[in-house]
Amino acid sequence: MNHPIFAANWKMNHGPSEARAFLKTFLTQYQRHYDRTIIFFPPAASIAMVASEVEGRSDILVGAQNIYWQDTGAFTGEISGPIARDAGATVVLVGHSERRHVFGETDDECADKCAAAERAGLRPMLCVGEKLDERDARKTEEVVLRQLRAGFSKLEQIDAFNPIVAYEPVWAIGTGRNATPDDASTIHGVIRDELKAIVGDRARAIPVLYGGSVNSGNAPALLSAPDVDGVLVGGASLNTGSWISIARTRPTAEIAPEELGRE
Ligand code: PEP
Repeated sequence: MNHPIFAANWKMNHGPSEARAFLKTFLTQYQRHYDRTIIFFPPAASIAMVASEVEGRSDILVGAQNIYWQDTGAFTGEISGPIARDAGATVVLVGHSERRHVFGETDDECADKCAAAERAGLRPMLCVGEKLDERDARKTEEVVLRQLRAGFSKLEQIDAFNPIVAYEPVWAIGTGRNATPDDASTIHGVIRDELKAIVGDRARAIPVLYGGSVNSGNAPALLSAPDVDGVLVGGASLNTGSWISIARTRPTAEIAPEELGRE
């Protein structure tokens, strides 16, 4: 398993003052773990606040939830890769299911956004995942592979590129229903094989995260599943208590059976 990543997607929650209060509590209670990376994806208006609160903590990164694919210009309401970078982001979510299914973002637009991230020196976290009807029609692999291939199709220097992928089945996001560790592992394996076809052996080092109703109860088993290199968490990342317990997760493989019995 790669060094695990614990990513918090705050969606449209925690403006600058709430973000600051959250980080103050988080930083006093969560000590640095050298074996993992934490990423916060706050709303755009809170990126600079979060970046300044975590300054000096190389184990904690800040990301943007979205960028526009142009670098500058008359695009009211959007933020560009260079602006997100200037505010303190080093990572950006691309193609989150809410962007795809609430705002109608297409595979082609996700490709433009990954290319914009590359130009800005941001590491994209490309989100892929099937809707419930696609799952029922056994189209999970087809959908995930289409989104993956399209997302990375417009990069200038694929060989030097260092993306992250998040498998987030749409039916699991915010629903309380998560994919089983086995199911997540199977799809992560499919994603890893496709990454191999795209970037060769470097694919092994590309983190593939699982997202969709992760909480402190299911995180250990998900993180123990082969090819699951971390978690992308929405709802359970909004509260310091639940987020800290997720961020401290050890894979079940490392937990003694008697400890598991006590949980
Ligand atoms: C998400 O927003 O990426 C997500 C996975 O949400 P939740 O954890 O609430 O399902």
